[in-house]
Amino acid sequence: MTRIALLGLGHMGLPMAVNLVRAGHDVHGFDLVPAAIDAARAAGIPVASSGADAVVDAEVVITMFPAGRHVITAYSDELLAAAVPGTLFIESSTIAVDEARTAHEMAVAAGHRNVDAPVSGGVVGAENGTLAFMVGGSDDDFAAALPLLEAMGKRIVHCGGPGLGQAAKVCNNMILAVSQIAVAEAFVLGERLGLEHQALFDVVSQASGQCWSITTNCPVPGPVPTSPANRDYQPGFAGALMAKDLGLALQAIDQTGTDARMGRLAQQLYAAFAEGDGAARDFSGIITDIREGTV
Ligand code: NAD
Repeated sequence: MTRIALLGLGHMGLPMAVNLVRAGHDVHGFDLVPAAIDAARAAGIPVASSGADAVVDAEVVITMFPAGRHVITAYSDELLAAAVPGTLFIESSTIAVDEARTAHEMAVAAGHRNVDAPVSGGVVGAENGTLAFMVGGSDDDFAAALPLLEAMGKRIVHCGGPGLGQAAKVCNNMILAVSQIAVAEAFVLGERLGLEHQALFDVVSQASGQCWSITTNCPVPGPVPTSPANRDYQPGFAGALMAKDLGLALQAIDQTGTDARMGRLAQQLYAAFAEGDGAARDFSGIITDIREGTV
């Protein structure tokens, strides 16, 4: 049994905390928002009176915050000073690679250990304990984090040193965005050429254009009954989150001087998509905007 503080009890953090409790760990949570605290208590998670209070006895601190600024601020304002030296900080929010490296340096300078461990798999993956974790950090810190990550996820990959978990996440989501747009464009082009959706699906899903964006997240209703297109594009993975992740990708592209024109264009299209009602729709809903020429 490990004593764990889990901070950020939102859509992802709360079900992750529940799975850690189910695995037999002693979990104390904290969130700034009263509704999140109430939901955690209702789910049987003890809630501390502050972030510092939650981490003071913890062997491991897991953070699941909206963005990098929340991580840096919480680390510097209270968490690093309140934790016992040698505490393992597992930072699971999706944040920029350089922010993850800054957080790592801050944690180490305060005498702690740290890995970045962003996730994919969404709320359903968090609830079912089937998240994928992409981890950046030393071999020893990865080994220490692994049993806890296994309680919350089913695929855990050690990607390299500090920040490289976030690097893998940003690269994956850039591929995903580009491929979802390409699949949407192909369906709209097919429509205009007189091609039935099912016929195009039957060909592409077994051919060289095959990818997750068509076989799981098919952007038209019918061929994949569980895809968000069959429920008016309820997420799934919301456009706002894709736009956020592509903002992080763009930051990395610019910092490294990478010639990633498709990634840049995908960032522009999803930023426009998320400015309107696309923010709350599944990101495959961009097909509507492509069909209507509004993105
Ligand atoms: P969320 O907004 O539902 O939850 C974040 C919580 O963190 C909020 O309840 C907020 O009050 C809390 N918080 C912020 N600062 C805090 C602090 N200093 N102390 C305690 N609590 C604090 O967000 P989410 O959907 O759970 O996502 C969390 C992270 O996971 C994000 O970085 C997101 O990009 C990433 N992510 C989300 C999904 C998804 O499907 N929701 C999928 C993959 C990755």
